[in-house]
Amino acid sequence: MRDNPISPTIDFDLDGVQHGYLRLPYSRNDSAWGSIQIPITQVKNGSGPCALFTGANHGDEYEGPLALVELATDLKAEDVSGTVLIIPFMNHPAFLKGVRVSPIDDLNMNRTFPGQPDGTPTQKIADYFQRTLLPMADVVLDFHSGGKTLDFIPFAASHALDDPEQQARCRAARDAFNAPFSIEMREIDALGMYDDAVETQGKTFVTTEIGGGGTATPASAQIARKGVRNLLIHTGILQGEPIIAPSRMLSQEDDGCFHFTNHNGMVDFAVTLGQTVAKGDLIARIWDMHHTGIEPRKFYALMDGILTARHHPGLVQSGDCLAVLATEITN
Ligand code: ZN
Repeated sequence: MRDNPISPTIDFDLDGVQHGYLRLPYSRNDSAWGSIQIPITQVKNGSGPCALFTGANHGDEYEGPLALVELATDLKAEDVSGTVLIIPFMNHPAFLKGVRVSPIDDLNMNRTFPGQPDGTPTQKIADYFQRTLLPMADVVLDFHSGGKTLDFIPFAASHALDDPEQQARCRAARDAFNAPFSIEMREIDALGMYDDAVETQGKTFVTTEIGGGGTATPASAQIARKGVRNLLIHTGILQGEPIIAPSRMLSQEDDGCFHFTNHNGMVDFAVTLGQTVAKGDLIARIWDMHHTGIEPRKFYALMDGILTARHHPGLVQSGDCLAVLATEITN
């Protein structure tokens, strides 16, 4: 396979703090010899584990970027044993526009793996992670939130994996992150995800969904900041005491957790995030947008559970994911 065209402006072998870019040549109308410059910080002190932290895999999710720009500013080489690679804006073109997918090639970074060195910009970035950055990492954290069209209760997630040893490592890292909720997450569409690329390489992987609606709150940003610090302590890269609070454990056994609307309209939720529902309970009504005097369509819970995610803006389209439930594990 051909070489990836991205070149880093930092030297991965050097100790110390380096702020730089992953530079991807990108020739276009407004810049003939232009480039995409993805900011990267490496904090390295000797040999030891390597943590790779990413935000803005989707460009409209902010808790990860907020926690990671602060970490990149504050972390000192003498604080760490090993290496921390911090990339707050993984899909930088999407982040600059405040949108989920790249405005250049319309590709969703998290459906593009393993990427392609001679593909579009998003495919090239994915290939650089796949073949250059991931092999360097022991522990990988990829931040997500709901973006502009979903909102979540704040959780850290691991996945069910074939290798029990790797699954235990991922669960332990997820629990060290210590979000208010922890989940063994079911993916709606796993093909091409960064998650799968990381796990296939045997790495310890944690992902999150922390809030949404296209912005962060003081509380949601703080969950991300605490999680990053806790995870660095868990890996042995940072010294100190983790801050551990109670975390409610969730699971998703089958696709019955996902609720889709097959109508356009104005959504009228009957339950709020974090609320418990029983199978058959009303989740939301969808009101007609063009006529008065029409009864709303009603959507009911397909299982017992906690409302884990909901559609965010007030209008929905047929096919939208309206709500996601999860089961609380209480033992
Ligand atoms: Zn996301």
